[in-house]
Amino acid sequence: MNHYNKLGLRYEAHILNYAGVAEYYNRCYSGVTVMRQEIALKKLVEYVARKAALLTQRYELEDLVAPSIAPFFEKVIDKMVVTLVKRNGGLRCNLCDKGPFTKRGMYLHLIRVHSKDIEFMVHEELRKLLEAMRK
Ligand SMILES: [Zn+2]
Repeated sequence: MNHYNKLGLRYEAHILNYAGVAEYYNRCYSGVTVMRQEIALKKLVEYVARKAALLTQRYELEDLVAPSIAPFFEKVIDKMVVTLVKRNGGLRCNLCDKGPFTKRGMYLHLIRVHSKDIEFMVHEELRKLLEAMRK
């Protein structure tokens, strides 16, 4: 990328952040970079869990992944939410059938019990999305 204006740099940072998450398990980084990617992935897991539990978001998706993929990833997250939570007769966990939960209870259950499952889903879906966009 040759555009070194402020906007360009910001965009490039998003792309790097996104690629970092997508290749999180396949590459070895050191120091600050690892921390930044772990934070990005944790925030994405939180985003998915909050959406599944019908809670308001603390972050914009555009701040967690590249703005160019955010709209596509939002749709992917909507599908993940259907996989994670059953909504008939209150919120129930679709992975282990526990519930019904309150919104807050549903969020805490997903974060405490299934954060690795969600992490894996996010990682897989980002990888697929990245592959599709490269074609
Ligand atoms: Zn569960």
